[in-house]
Amino acid sequence: MYDTLIPSNIASALAHVRQRIQDAAKRAKRPPSDIQLLAVSKTFNAHAVLEAAQAGQTAFGENYIQEAIEKITTLAANTPPLQLEWHCIGPVQSNKTRLVAEHFDWLHTLDRAKIADRLHAQRPEHVNPLNVCIQVNIDHSATKSGVDPSEALALARHVLTLPRLHLRGMMCIPDPSDSPEQTRQAHRAAKTLFDTLRAKLLADAPHFDTLSMGMSADLECAIEEGSTMVRVGSALFGQRPIPAQNAVQP
Ligand SMILES: *Cc1c(COP(=O)(O)O)cnc(C)c1O
Repeated sequence: MYDTLIPSNIASALAHVRQRIQDAAKRAKRPPSDIQLLAVSKTFNAHAVLEAAQAGQTAFGENYIQEAIEKITTLAANTPPLQLEWHCIGPVQSNKTRLVAEHFDWLHTLDRAKIADRLHAQRPEHVNPLNVCIQVNIDHSATKSGVDPSEALALARHVLTLPRLHLRGMMCIPDPSDSPEQTRQAHRAAKTLFDTLRAKLLADAPHFDTLSMGMSADLECAIEEGSTMVRVGSALFGQRPIPAQNAVQP
């Protein structure tokens, strides 16, 4: 489905992924600028992030809070300043909300009111509100986090009562499937829900504009079905030592 070559050079891998995004957008008759690339740098070090940043990439996704903060801190000291945007895309336990509130620009995996309340209370005054996406368990997978689609609107409305959070959209991780048709159905269901939520929230959440969906293996399909942000790791940085779904949150 996509080249599994391990890129020797992050800049060329980035150009290749950008081309894939452009081609998919073209097929879907969408402007390529409607789709943002989030570079998922989990398990890769600050050097890899720096290399991507020097090739023009600004938004980075991380799953493991402690690992992320080390990179964020290292790169914040870079000269010249890099102006990177950090997205937390991993599950967040209650005892990690303060670190997320203090160090990240985005959280993609909000799935509980209690976590929202803590992030709101802990978001420092001197920075912008934290951008959040509601994670939805779009294919009702038993093993995955995310709210049930039927609960997404209620959680979104709760977030709107918290001014230190900025409701930006919805995120999903469809189950990996051998059947392209099954993957497409999940993407399509996500887009339908996203459009419904956006219509219902329009008056109160004008910036509900992000559908975070699609990874290295399924970004074409995700874009064809309406994704506005693809989260791409291995196609940019190479294979990770352990598959993400087996990794243990430290
Ligand atoms: C690791 C991860 C990605 C990137 O996956 P690749 O298959 O390496 O592109 C995207 N989203 C989430 C939530 C992840 O955990």
